[in-house]
Amino acid sequence: LERTLSIIKPDAMEKNTAGAIVARLEQEGFTVKAMKRIHLTRAEAEGFYAEHQGRGFFDELVTFMSRSPILVMALEREDAVAKYREVIGATDPAKAAAGTIRKLYGANVGENAVHGSDKPATAAREIAYFFAGYEVA
Ligand code: ATP
Repeated sequence: LERTLSIIKPDAMEKNTAGAIVARLEQEGFTVKAMKRIHLTRAEAEGFYAEHQGRGFFDELVTFMSRSPILVMALEREDAVAKYREVIGATDPAKAAAGTIRKLYGANVGENAVHGSDKPATAAREIAYFFAGYEVA
């Protein structure tokens, strides 16, 4: 089985849609191996998105991700990274397929409800950014 890091972003948390999103992920076969609600500092958001430093939307992204609490989860499933990306849909909710989480719960290309790891190696690094080993056992 494979793991991926999922984040329910501030926009979805503020709208109280986290429960619906977690329920949908469980319906899609994901098991929650770890979960916590945290309010990132700006520096912590910058650290998480370090690879995007230099992109035009970086400042907007870290401001958004640190404005209110998020729900961070380590999810497990067969082919978790690819399957999760399929279930959340395209980055821009307006372009996401019908029924995807971003289409259902996202507001715009920045405030798009959820994050997902882009590949298994990234998932391992992102899970380790938020969870100690004993928390994801
Ligand atoms: P994620 O990494 O969150 O799963 P992604 O891989 O679909 O998203 P990326 O291109 O890696 O998308 O962008 C990372 C995040 O940066 C997006 O999820 C979104 O919140 C934000 N973002 C991307 N493009 C823009 C943009 N043009 N304007 C504002 N924010 C953006």
